[in-house]
Amino acid sequence: MFEIKNLSVNYGGIEAVRDISLSVPEGSIVTLIGANGAGKSTTLRTIAGLVKPRSGRIEFMGEDITGKDPAYIVGKGITLVPEGRRIFPDLTVLENLKIGAYLRSDSIDDDIEWVYSLFPRLKERSWQYGGTLSGGEQQMLAVGRALMSKPRLMMMDEPSLGLAPLVVRDIFSIIRKINDEGVTILLIEQNANMALQTADTGYVMETGRITLSGKGSDLITDEGVRKAYLGG
Ligand code: ATP
Repeated sequence: MFEIKNLSVNYGGIEAVRDISLSVPEGSIVTLIGANGAGKSTTLRTIAGLVKPRSGRIEFMGEDITGKDPAYIVGKGITLVPEGRRIFPDLTVLENLKIGAYLRSDSIDDDIEWVYSLFPRLKERSWQYGGTLSGGEQQMLAVGRALMSKPRLMMMDEPSLGLAPLVVRDIFSIIRKINDEGVTILLIEQNANMALQTADTGYVMETGRITLSGKGSDLITDEGVRKAYLGG
C-alpha cells in the first residue's frame, strides 16, 4: 500500500535520513523506533510533504508522491499527527475537529460522531478550549482532528510523549481500535515497549539508517533491542 525506497534526506550538510526503505501493508500497524535524533520525525515529515528528500521514492497506492505538496498528500489520504500535538489552544474541541476536515467538501457530521464515539471524553468537552484540556485529552483531540480528514494512512509522531502510563495505555488501545476500523497506521515512538506490543511490524532506526526490522513480537524479544530500547 505504502512504500519508501532508498530515501535520503539532508538538512544542509546534515544527513538526517540515509537510504532507508520500508513498507506498510494495507490494514497494518507499523512502527519505527529509535533514539533521539535517529531521523524518525524527519521520515514522517518527508512523507507528509513538509520536507523535500534528497533522493529516493515514496509510493502510495502505486502512485509516486515523492516531493508533492502537503495538501496534495492529505488529499490522497495520508495524515500526520505531529509531535507535541499542536492543537489550536484558543479554539474549542469541536472547532479543532472541524479544522481537520478543511480539505473536504462533503458532510462531516457523521465523522464528528465517529470521532466522538472513539473519544467520548471529547464529546463531553466539545465546547471546552483546546488549551485547557489535559495532556492526554489534547493527544486525543490531535488524533481526532487527524481522523477528520478521513485518512487511509495515519502517521503518528510519538503519541505517548509526556503522558502518564495509564493514559498511554488508553491511547494505544484507541490506536488499535482505529486500525480495526480500517485505517493503516505508521507510528514512531521512543516508548518501544508499547509500540512493539501494538505493531505488526517494527523498524529500528539509528543515526539515519534502518538497522533492523521484523515482526513487533519478535523485535520485543530481540536481545539487542531489549538492551538498547527496553532497558535490558
Ligand atoms: P526525536 O525522537 O528526538 O524527535 P528523531 O528520531 O525524530 O528524534 P529527527 O527529529 O528526525 O530525529 O532528527 C534527525 C536529525 O536531523 C537530528 O540530527 C536533528 O538535529 C536534525 N534535524 C531535524 N530537524 C532539523 C532542521 N529543521 N534543521 C536542521 N537539522 C534538523
